[in-house]
Amino acid sequence: MKGLGEYDEGNVFARILRGEIPCRRVFEDEWALAFDDINPQAPTHVLVIPKGRYISIADFAARGGQAEIAGFWRAVGEVARRLGLEAPGYRILANMGEDSGQEVPHFHVHIFGGRPLGRMLPTAG
Ligand code: 5GP
Repeated sequence: MKGLGEYDEGNVFARILRGEIPCRRVFEDEWALAFDDINPQAPTHVLVIPKGRYISIADFAARGGQAEIAGFWRAVGEVARRLGLEAPGYRILANMGEDSGQEVPHFHVHIFGGRPLGRMLPTAG
């Protein structure tokens, strides 16, 4: 079960936050860390994660503090701005739970950009 249940301290993003495995960091502040996705799906593909222990958007929305939620979403916007994506545009995406295919059970937002991104979802499959 990804997205709900007990937080797994061994998940890969928890390990990145603890500095146990490396990442290509693009931004960090009090609330969030942003780094390049290891398997990019677009010319720019960055992940933004909160520093707190949240499994998914459902968990973050339910348990996150006001300052934490505001700080996180401000960081998402700031990362996209710093990456020069505001003028051409970009897409953010968060997977939650099984139907979404969420792989890593630490809440994260994907930022995609650098090319026209096509339709929101694959038409089939
Ligand atoms: P999800 O499917 O959970 O929304 O996305 C997880 C993302 O994490 C995938 O796009 C995957 O490529 C990325 N990812 C998985 N392991 C690592 C890692 O060790 N380092 C980085 N930078 N990205 C990872």
